[in-house]
Amino acid sequence: MLLFEYRCQACGHVTEFLEKADTKAKHPCEQCGSKKTDRILSAFAVGKGGASGSAGGSCPTGTCPLS
Ligand SMILES: [Zn+2]
Repeated sequence: MLLFEYRCQACGHVTEFLEKADTKAKHPCEQCGSKKTDRILSAFAVGKGGASGSAGGSCPTGTCPLS
């Protein structure tokens, strides 16, 4: 699951949803009901499962003596 932000093109209201990365879901604006929303991958989700910070790793650089 990734955190996506949907920004309304009509009023600029941003709503966050937790969804699968490949979702095709559309969400109308909570504020004004417009269906014209742009999906943005939230910065909060970026980095999870990425090149850095692999699961279980306690050292981000891989050079810690205890790793
Ligand atoms: Zn709106």
